[in-house]
Amino acid sequence: MRLFDTHAHLDDEAFAHDLQEVLQRAQSAGVVGILAVGITLASSESAIRLAENYGQVWAAVGIHPNYAASAQPGDWSRLERLVEHPRVVAVGETGLDRYWHYTPFEVQEDYFLRHLALARAANRPVVIHCRDAEEDLLRVLRADYEHHGPLRGILHAFSGQASTAEVGLSLGLHVSFAGMVTYKNAEPLRQLARRIPADRLLVETDSPYLVPVPLRGRISRNEPAHVIHTVHCLARVRQTDAEQLAQQCTANAQRLFGLGQNCQPGLGYGTGW
Ligand SMILES: [Zn+2]
Repeated sequence: MRLFDTHAHLDDEAFAHDLQEVLQRAQSAGVVGILAVGITLASSESAIRLAENYGQVWAAVGIHPNYAASAQPGDWSRLERLVEHPRVVAVGETGLDRYWHYTPFEVQEDYFLRHLALARAANRPVVIHCRDAEEDLLRVLRADYEHHGPLRGILHAFSGQASTAEVGLSLGLHVSFAGMVTYKNAEPLRQLARRIPADRLLVETDSPYLVPVPLRGRISRNEPAHVIHTVHCLARVRQTDAEQLAQQCTANAQRLFGLGQNCQPGLGYGTGW
């Protein structure tokens, strides 16, 4: 099995004491790549440090909508420079969130637009978070598409409406599923996952969050090795072989992030179509 966990918060304090073992278990489970995703400037810098230290780890740099209000003056311009780092293969996580109220919505939208512009300028895919804000998300993405055309990126930990996924796909995005798709009450999400084109499908853990079934309720911390459970769930609903599905999702991630088959840089950014 060759797996790529396209979204993990490896710099989270949940991993402060045993990251080495966590990465070892991931490797044993067949995880050949992990995208470590930043949520603040400091966290983005940590993600890069991890990507420098561990060959299978790559970094995404961004300021999460819920942390945008606490960003300091100067953070954004420093973040813009981080994108050029050779281990940075994506911009984010960014997006919109109306569930929590940590950041005024207009500030979230301003930061989201900045990330979209940065991703396009740097020719990197963008990692998009959306919670209770699908209409706003599609409004912003459609306007961006009108001006600039297809957007490379990921609707991460997707749990929204089928129509949102369909519009996202039509704008050029990939759809990534996390542990939520394995939950007992997630049948509508599984039905949607069944219909995502194979070449736009990704899997992730969103570690340390979203522990998948059958581990849910038994452990509280998720980790990249557990991405296998989401693969098995998707393979079941799509009536395909898990090994083959894993292979496809991994190839999709490698293409999107501009990585070669062995997860080494090589294909060059922007060849991901
Ligand atoms: Zn995240």
